[in-house]
Amino acid sequence: SAAASRRTVEPGGIVRALRESKAMQLHESQGVPSVRHDERLAQLARVAVHVGLGLQRGQELVMTAPLDATPLARRITEEAYRAGASLVTTLYSDDAATLARFRHAPDESFDKASDWLFEGMAAAFRKGAARLAIVGEDPSLLARQDPDKVARANRARSKAYMPALQLIAGFDINWTIVSYATPAWAKAMFPDISEQAATEKLWDAIFAASRVETPDPVAAWEAHNSSLRSRTDYLNGRNFAALRFRGPGTDLTVGLADEHRWEGGAAQAKNGIVCNANIPSEEVFTTPHRDRVDGVVTSTKPLSYQGTLIEEISVRFAEGRIVDAKARTGGEVLNKVLDTDEGARRLGEVALVPHSSPIAQSGLLFYNTLFDENAASHIALGQAYSKCFRDGDKLSEAELAARGANRSLIHIDWMIGNAETDIDGIHADGRTVPVFRKGEWA
Ligand code: ZN
Ligand code: ZN
Repeated sequence: SAAASRRTVEPGGIVRALRESKAMQLHESQGVPSVRHDERLAQLARVAVHVGLGLQRGQELVMTAPLDATPLARRITEEAYRAGASLVTTLYSDDAATLARFRHAPDESFDKASDWLFEGMAAAFRKGAARLAIVGEDPSLLARQDPDKVARANRARSKAYMPALQLIAGFDINWTIVSYATPAWAKAMFPDISEQAATEKLWDAIFAASRVETPDPVAAWEAHNSSLRSRTDYLNGRNFAALRFRGPGTDLTVGLADEHRWEGGAAQAKNGIVCNANIPSEEVFTTPHRDRVDGVVTSTKPLSYQGTLIEEISVRFAEGRIVDAKARTGGEVLNKVLDTDEGARRLGEVALVPHSSPIAQSGLLFYNTLFDENAASHIALGQAYSKCFRDGDKLSEAELAARGANRSLIHIDWMIGNAETDIDGIHADGRTVPVFRKGEWA
């Protein structure tokens, strides 16, 4: 599950944008903006507000977006006000400003973050605001920057973001993440075709995965949510003690936290509002036990982390802790991430996604967790979701920790499933039940 935490929001990158985006210029340069594209964008805004957020009359909304996503941010703003939002505030980030920092800022800049901004966001959430993130970052934005500066900047940002992230990850508020096909993201996915053709291909994939290509997207999401609910009901009924993953390069036993609960699709936040936190979402997920993960696991897709591509990750767990980690590319960044804090070496999530998921079947690698995590079963390093516990919203931090929930500044999903993956559910008495065979629900 993606927690709206990855977006690097830099002090210099935040503007109340009044600027036309590149994407809009792209359409204008071909003459009249495509009516079909505008209709689909309007449908995506409707899904974001009514399915993603379940935005309530009178509720405030805090939105973050890349500058390129202005056309969608404006549509969502309109839709939110039509739904009765009392105030919509959008914070834009700008890749060029982010890069300017890495090129020109003094060394001490990289231990700084806009803590005042994140405290303000947290204050808005405490007063009842909803949270929406539009993502569409260039997966290799920071690839050529000093990994040490990238790690320091991320660490400072993660720390500053913590008060806001806790309210998001703890589901105190209704929140959602949707995506926007920025030209830089599209070119990373389709380097061999023109920017315009690449952007159109990515839009097709986003609209299809976000279920806006149907006459009634809100009804399509209701049907999808009920099919995910049948999976979580099954797994909650079984109440497995552990899951064992087997596949090429993988033999991993993931002990599940005591009194864990499986979640997926629509969920009720502590403020009582039902939301879909990720658009798209194909996963069902729960909390592993911090100390009960053992074995080896190899990633099945590259992980795009803050502008660095980490490929062919291979790690060994002992008693919940990663004791050995390597990767074919990005190993240095991976090991810096693991050193963020003690919890960064332990799991905060395990999620099941069949290989027949529409996102897996698209055959595309998105270099974006919001999509790639919905193409394969995965695990996440770092912070656990308190929602994934029986009566999780009533448990204190100490009670969550006693049940095995991990704590960390980070939460990073990475993919470990493919068409070869077998998963067994293991009951407390040792009985095993096939859950996945050859990448599909058994
Ligand atoms: Zn996930
Ligand atoms: Zn996750």
